[in-house]
Amino acid sequence: MRDFIQDAPDTYAAEPIPDEAKTAIDALLSSGDLFRYTSERAPVALLEEEFAQLLGSKYALAVSSCSAALFLSLKALDLPKGARVLIPAFTFAAVPSAVVHAECQPVLVEVDATYRIDLQDFEAKIADCDAVLISHMRGHTSDMDAIKALAFVYDVPVIEDAAHSLGTTWNGQNIGTLGHVGCFSFQSYKMINAGEGGIMVSDDPELIARAVIMSGAYEHNWKKHAIVGEIAARWQNRLPLYNLRMQNLSACVIRPQLGELERRVRDGRANHDYVAAKLLASDMFEVPAPLAPELRAPDSLQFNLRGFTDAQAEAFMAATTRRGVGTQVFGLSQDNARAFWNWQFIPGELPELPKTRAMLARACDTRLPARLTQSELDFIADAIIDAGHEVRGTDGAPNQ
Ligand SMILES: *Cc1c(COP(=O)(O)O)cnc(C)c1O
Repeated sequence: MRDFIQDAPDTYAAEPIPDEAKTAIDALLSSGDLFRYTSERAPVALLEEEFAQLLGSKYALAVSSCSAALFLSLKALDLPKGARVLIPAFTFAAVPSAVVHAECQPVLVEVDATYRIDLQDFEAKIADCDAVLISHMRGHTSDMDAIKALAFVYDVPVIEDAAHSLGTTWNGQNIGTLGHVGCFSFQSYKMINAGEGGIMVSDDPELIARAVIMSGAYEHNWKKHAIVGEIAARWQNRLPLYNLRMQNLSACVIRPQLGELERRVRDGRANHDYVAAKLLASDMFEVPAPLAPELRAPDSLQFNLRGFTDAQAEAFMAATTRRGVGTQVFGLSQDNARAFWNWQFIPGELPELPKTRAMLARACDTRLPARLTQSELDFIADAIIDAGHEVRGTDGAPNQ
């Protein structure tokens, strides 16, 4: 029998980091200059300039993670203790965690079977909220035109968690630049890999200046953020220092990858659409289509199991694993960090969110990095389809 596991592509293996990073790191190791504030024009400062320009934002601040960027965004908006922050009920546990860390109260909003924010529930809850934190979960963009319009009416700021959406556009504009502030991750499973790291972008110099101080620009280090320096000077000694800075080694790993982004986005989208089309040929699976203004940058694939019972969905997960292609049903895999009922650290009682719960019970997740070859994509698609047939038998018939 064919050894599926041995033949299966390793979807967790990373792409090599471009060679330019080695040269930059060598120079850094020779000088020992790892701290971003030791020298002028340090790699972290250059990354901030380049990233802001790449996205079409005025300002950027590099930090230790996207979670740190989300936390600093909430703090920089000067939300009072206990402020209510609307977040989608389908996101990564780091998002409600950042809200709790900022001493705010997460308010969960329903997400539908297309992984997008349910606008009816959003509208019902926004009036009572002080800020909105939109998580573009796995790169799926909710209707940002409607969300921005409602946020404008209720006069609440919009933070974008674009951790997993670098390269996605909405009406041609980069995701992460639509709200007041956008946050990105450089953790290894995101589009740009530095192991860990994050960055926030905004056109609001006051917000960035406050975040600069709180990220750990102690004493006169704000001078090394020349672009917001004078505003930051006013906040000196008036804001706490949380020390969430990025170090120069990370910037040296990130900067040469910025030029790779366009290719990764193009290949990731092609890979996603190729496997999605194969799954859509069977009536066992549903792959939600993008919204018209959305141009995706996927590095993973989400699809819904159609007409499966819980037991069949569990059996499907096991059958894909036996074929060497791990798929996870978000709401059926134990302790999943994206299942809202596992966020028991949120103060108060967790709300009942039947739409989100139903979606999580059938939504599958599989990694699909941009570097995969066509034969690897075929392997993954075939494994998923075969696993479906194994579980459903002849009742998983192809679409007519
Ligand atoms: C990865 C991720 C985060 C957290 O990013 P870190 O850099 O690991 O803190 C937050 N939100 C979403 C949607 C993510 O995918």
